[in-house]
Amino acid sequence: MTESELLFTHALDCKRESLYLDKDRPLTSSQSSFVSSALKRRLSGEPLQYILGSTEFMGLEFKVNRHVLIPRFETEILVDAAIKYARSLLSFKGRILELGTGSGCIAISLAKFLPDLKITATDISIEALRVALDNARLNGVSNRICFTASDLFDSLAVNTRRYSICISNPPYVPTAQIDRLQPEVRHEPRGALDGGRDGLGFYRRIIKGASDYLIDEGILIMEIGFNQRDGVEAILRSSNSFKAIEAIKDFNNIDRVIVARRG
Ligand code: GLN
Repeated sequence: MTESELLFTHALDCKRESLYLDKDRPLTSSQSSFVSSALKRRLSGEPLQYILGSTEFMGLEFKVNRHVLIPRFETEILVDAAIKYARSLLSFKGRILELGTGSGCIAISLAKFLPDLKITATDISIEALRVALDNARLNGVSNRICFTASDLFDSLAVNTRRYSICISNPPYVPTAQIDRLQPEVRHEPRGALDGGRDGLGFYRRIIKGASDYLIDEGILIMEIGFNQRDGVEAILRSSNSFKAIEAIKDFNNIDRVIVARRG
């Protein structure tokens, strides 16, 4: 749907077709004041998803607010790949660890599509974890995900090499580039975007920690930004803990996901 279709289906609580089939229907005064205040916010650069308070990801509904990054279409590639790997690990019974869950869209989609799995999902932001928990309830998987306040691995139990998959879409935008992004992005939490000077800060920490938390042959799978493949692969190689590194491209032919196997 276009942004105007999304706005009006939301305001009128109707399906897209009715906007066109019933197009002479006048707005009630509360609908019209909702639309005009939404338009003012949108014109000031606020993303429509925050104004409407929800968005779609992997065909599921997710609540969003300014405490969480808005799920991106490209991140579905990360989730699809993780589902494929989880299913290919023979008699997969392990746990998945997600770092930096934000709205919870990755952990919740995995819980939906991999019904036998238990997931631990961390975030440093309590406000984000509140949104993620609401979304897990909304999608009926809150009993399968353990949400934990943690700066990456910092608050997880130590010496527990028990995760079969570690997944993350960490902040990866180089600090200096954030203010050059489109104005909508500046409404999103900086902590979910800022990957430090070269954008690779979180990959260094995740790769170091993941070797302590993954089982042998466990999979580390991460979203990466434009032109970051070589940098992230170099960090993986120099860790000496990962092999079989693979990159997956997005629909614009940009390397978007990196997969490595512990061992
Ligand atoms: N994909 C987001 C963007 O391009 C960045 C998300 C992230 O840093 N993980 O704005």
